[in-house]
Amino acid sequence: ETIMPNWLMRRAELTPDRTAFETDRETVSFRTLFQMVTDIARELRSIGVRENDKVALLSESSLELVGFYHAISGAGAVSVPLNNRLSPEEAAWQLRDCGARWLICDQAFLPLAQMIVDRTPCTLLTMAEVHDQPKTSCGLNSAFDLNKPCTIIYTSGTTGHPKGVVLTYGNHWWSAAGSVLNLGLREDDKWLCCVPLFHVSGLSILMKNVIYGMTVVLSGKFNPHAANRQICANGVTMMSVVANMLRRMLDDAGAEGYPGTFRCMLLGGGPAPLPLLNRCKEKRIPVFQTYGLTETASQTATLPPEYMFTKIGSAGKPLFPAEIRIVTDGKAMRPNQPGEIIVRGLNVTPGYWGRRDATERAIKGGWLYTGDIGYLDQEGFLYILDRRQDLIISGGENVYPAEVESTLLGHPAVEEAGVIGVADETWGEVPYAFVVIKKGLVFSEKELLNYCRRRLAGYKLPVRIQPLERLPRNASRKLLRRKLVDFLPKTFA
Ligand code: AMP
Ligand code: MG
Ligand code: MG
Repeated sequence: ETIMPNWLMRRAELTPDRTAFETDRETVSFRTLFQMVTDIARELRSIGVRENDKVALLSESSLELVGFYHAISGAGAVSVPLNNRLSPEEAAWQLRDCGARWLICDQAFLPLAQMIVDRTPCTLLTMAEVHDQPKTSCGLNSAFDLNKPCTIIYTSGTTGHPKGVVLTYGNHWWSAAGSVLNLGLREDDKWLCCVPLFHVSGLSILMKNVIYGMTVVLSGKFNPHAANRQICANGVTMMSVVANMLRRMLDDAGAEGYPGTFRCMLLGGGPAPLPLLNRCKEKRIPVFQTYGLTETASQTATLPPEYMFTKIGSAGKPLFPAEIRIVTDGKAMRPNQPGEIIVRGLNVTPGYWGRRDATERAIKGGWLYTGDIGYLDQEGFLYILDRRQDLIISGGENVYPAEVESTLLGHPAVEEAGVIGVADETWGEVPYAFVVIKKGLVFSEKELLNYCRRRLAGYKLPVRIQPLERLPRNASRKLLRRKLVDFLPKTFA
């Protein structure tokens, strides 16, 4: 056992009057948050939630959801956040897989939640129904065991069923610690959270909130203009984004110039296209590229601030508690040689819930095999090329879809780009591109191909460039390349 005081409880003792959260509707202190969470924990206990029970959550991002996360922890149980865009069957599968006893939802998701529990042995309660319970006298556990699971988050593989990533208290603690040892912490720091709370990106912000005692501005839905206003007029100093969110913020006039107080745009979740990074550089927006996975409890490498403009395109160096190596067939690669990225550290998951095989395949000798391809430069800076599964091998040459997408995004008419491999008799596979064209501009495949021809080696050139209204993205707005296959014309599919 490795015991530590309950984070929220300790935080409420240390700085009760500091603002914990700002939402559209309210501002709450850590004292208020603690009281709210204690009440929920008492209600959960009277329902019968016990140590180690799995409690699934289905909700919009809200303060209430934050309260349930902490209350489930405080009752010694494990949270299983559900992606609120899943189909009833997909969500039910996850609940059965982890043996969840309860599903708690907000009012908005009640119809979906009902369909989910119909397919499981779970009991469904709305948050309001939980509040109707009598409160037991027993509130929050006063301590956490760092080795115990805190959350189980399902991560969707490209094939087969998703796997439940177990994250312990220790994983979350070291993730928060690693992040702050890199980014630092100022008294007036305020983190804007527009990423989903059911992903590790949002969840890790909740951990930072109580561990650092830092104000979080919680915004339900992402709106680029509102986000810019938060930075320009409400003192937000840091924000987590994926590339698509950042692009939309730059397109909004509000991004003209951010105040000097804004110190970190934490960009992760997927490839960072160079044209986007260059636009940020022009506008002197402090972008920190970061690399992480659900399995690493969010960030595991981040570009230190002093290299922001000299190592553009790099995801930086491993955070303090983590190590990164590049390997191929069990051999370490030399600098600048690509291979699989492997990670070791206290932020790395002990494994997948109930999946010994998958765990043994992913974690070997204490190292997590990420399935991502990248390289370290001479000075140890990490560059991510792409997911191994998305790699296109054309005539024996490696084509990284992210590089082709990044090139297309450099063209003034291209708003979004997605590249996949399609079968080809001569080359085995060739890249095929989809683009979203900016409003009011015209699409010309010929012109785009010429543009690419001037910038890319012949074998990287897409066979076709096809316009789409929008690209398939998940709830975190990450591009879903495998869904692009559905848009291929018959001759390619
Ligand atoms: P998830 O599976 O949702 O936990 O997302 C983790 C995956 O996102 C990684 O395995 C990478 O494929 C991708 N990813 C995260 N950060 C980056 C980055 N900076 N550049 C490219 N891909 C990234
Ligand atoms: Mg993954
Ligand atoms: Mg995922």
